[in-house]
Amino acid sequence: MTGDGVDAPADGAVSWRSLWEDTSRVVGARNVARWLCEAACGADGDEFIDELEAFATERAVAHLDAMIARHRRGEPLQYVLGRWSFRRLDLMVDRRVLIPRPETELLVEYAHELLAPRPRPWRIVDLGTGSGAIGLSCAAEWRHEGLEVWLTDASADALDVARANLAGIGRAAPNVRLVHGSWFEPLPDSARGRLDLIVSNPPYIADDDPDVDVSVREWEPGSALFAGADGLDDLRRIAAEALHWLAPGGAVVVEIGAHQGPAVAELFRAAGAVDVTVRADLSGRDRFVQAKRAAT
Ligand code: GLN
Repeated sequence: MTGDGVDAPADGAVSWRSLWEDTSRVVGARNVARWLCEAACGADGDEFIDELEAFATERAVAHLDAMIARHRRGEPLQYVLGRWSFRRLDLMVDRRVLIPRPETELLVEYAHELLAPRPRPWRIVDLGTGSGAIGLSCAAEWRHEGLEVWLTDASADALDVARANLAGIGRAAPNVRLVHGSWFEPLPDSARGRLDLIVSNPPYIADDDPDVDVSVREWEPGSALFAGADGLDDLRRIAAEALHWLAPGGAVVVEIGAHQGPAVAELFRAAGAVDVTVRADLSGRDRFVQAKRAAT
């Protein structure tokens, strides 16, 4: 037992109820304590409640202690747990990838609106996929015969995480292809001018942005967050190339920073896109830009 952790009686017999109480005191939040206890116990939801009077094994208590210690050193809860949920998926996450954000769930919704009127099968690309959250959600939620979902990432480490998560989508997995490289680079030439949808949550934070959370800056991969002096380096590349890859009438939708709406919309307009629209997240802040290649 470490000084950071929870103390069990000498005989080691301690119930999950009391571990949850002790952990709540140590981490200062009952819900965080519950997530940690559930992970250590290997049961969640009602199953965890059923375990409350049961004694934890020594191994489970050691696991809990180790997680508490990591959390107390400032590591984000999602990395400590090694998993986080995004839409319907339970994703493995660690320091190789950005933690999936709730606002990004809406990006998948908007992507679907754009695809809905298009004939199937759809050909979709998720650029800079990271954990695979966006692209794997598309593949899992819209599964149909002939669907193709391409996931690209310049980070081989990130692709390893996406590949681990690919297994989690079961029967939808054969529709997904993971390719290593920067933005559009690893896509096959045969996809040029034939994509129904490009979706991406690229890095969009300015390198010296003072408003970035300390834990984000310290723990999450900088290559997934920062994009030059104005945060637009990667969005410029995506906007410049997107129309070459889209089929006539195909759409692109990207996540952006709250103050980047006008600038990013202009990038897509300058590239020749039509129906360029800035859209808000659930808190009402500009968070996405969508655009289309003209239908004819
Ligand atoms: N929304 C993320 C953050 O706040 C940034 C994600 C990104 O750069 N794509 O930290």
